[in-house]
Amino acid sequence: MEFGLLAFQASLFDPLQLLQPCVIPVKLAVQKLWEKKLKWSAVIDADLQQVVNELYEQLNGKQIVLPRKLFINDDPAIRYELQGFADSSAFAYGVAVYIIKVTENGRFPTLLITKGRLIPLKFLKYCIARKELLGVVLAFELLIYLLNTFPDLFQLAEIQTDSTTVLHWWRNSESRDRFINNRMIKIKSHDIPLRYVPTDYNPADIISRGCTIDELKDDELYWRGPLYLTQAVEYWPVEPVTAIEDEDCEIAAPVDVVIIDPTSATVIIDATRFSSWNSLMNCLMKVLQFLAKKFPKFRTAENLPATDVKSAEWILICEMKVIKIIQTSKLLTQKRMNELNLFVDTHHFVRKDTRLDKNAFNFDVACPLFLNDCYETRLLIKNIHDKFGHAGITTVVAELRQRFYLPKAIQVVRKVIRNCNQCKREKAKPFSLPPMPVLPVERTLECLPFINSGVDYAGPFNIL
Ligand SMILES: [Zn+2]
Repeated sequence: MEFGLLAFQASLFDPLQLLQPCVIPVKLAVQKLWEKKLKWSAVIDADLQQVVNELYEQLNGKQIVLPRKLFINDDPAIRYELQGFADSSAFAYGVAVYIIKVTENGRFPTLLITKGRLIPLKFLKYCIARKELLGVVLAFELLIYLLNTFPDLFQLAEIQTDSTTVLHWWRNSESRDRFINNRMIKIKSHDIPLRYVPTDYNPADIISRGCTIDELKDDELYWRGPLYLTQAVEYWPVEPVTAIEDEDCEIAAPVDVVIIDPTSATVIIDATRFSSWNSLMNCLMKVLQFLAKKFPKFRTAENLPATDVKSAEWILICEMKVIKIIQTSKLLTQKRMNELNLFVDTHHFVRKDTRLDKNAFNFDVACPLFLNDCYETRLLIKNIHDKFGHAGITTVVAELRQRFYLPKAIQVVRKVIRNCNQCKREKAKPFSLPPMPVLPVERTLECLPFINSGVDYAGPFNIL
């Protein structure tokens, strides 16, 4: 019975998840089944059966027709904005994102995409503010996804929540529970502000509560967004001034985060736009040379050499710049530093303290540079793999370890080599031949010479 319910849930065609408010009750029924730890084909008990039957009746055969175009009016847009609404109930949380087209004649909001999730069983005992925080994080992830998918399209992106506690946590950076701290670090990693929305105006409320399809059809708040979105920001609701209680959030010991001189890790170009380490180096070198030539201030700030040094030295500078970006791409805690036996050198690079004697070996070999597993690192590994004639895992790892320390290097190198197109092509096996056809009769029957004659040549021929 359980797979029947899952099949029913999966049979809804809803790529933008706009029917999430109706799907949440189905997901909840599935979660209840999981709690009971039933077997896949076991028959569910009568109470739950009744709930499932009601759900099925509500949803089966119903249709909601949505316009294909986002905006009915064709006025030229001055700009587009994104407003993500987050809400949470005791058992589910949801996000509704609205796109606002700002024209000379006004502001036109419309529903763009939604998402709804159940609160994981292990978080069910948490207070409502923490559950609201889960919703805000989901809204943040969805907005980042949209901003990355449509770069330069949106001039503004904001998250709106009705939880004043979450807003309070967001404004005050004091250390709290690790659950809250980790999620706050994530939300603050991008410049997406949080804003207050009264519960009655929050369109994500219906997602977290769940509803029937008939209720959803007529819900203007859900499809159009709160009315104030059509007005200027001055008329939007403001947050009430109330004393915020920190509910049941016990203070956790602050996590020591090692800051590795972030100023020198400025990302000048986006490495994900490059498919090879060499082209990344060449492009970065040209950009840095140009900036150093044009702006003397930039050269002194970035400690760049005079422009007449050889290009090999420039490549080395670029390499170190990218390594700095790799090292700062993930937060490194003091605990992790101790576990891996890492230290920060005088140039603010993270290195591993190996057991090799520093006087007997080159410093780079005795204390290799630490690398995080990220896109740039994989480009570097691919470069070594290419340089050594598409070498195997052992060779690449050995070469990498000459200068770098990458935790779980073998797994990362294996993944990179597995994705190498040239290796794939060389190791590919040929297609198996199709079964041979039946031989023509004249070739298999015994007869006198030249009774049948044929030409092994392509036709057709015109016989005159
Ligand atoms: Zn290869």
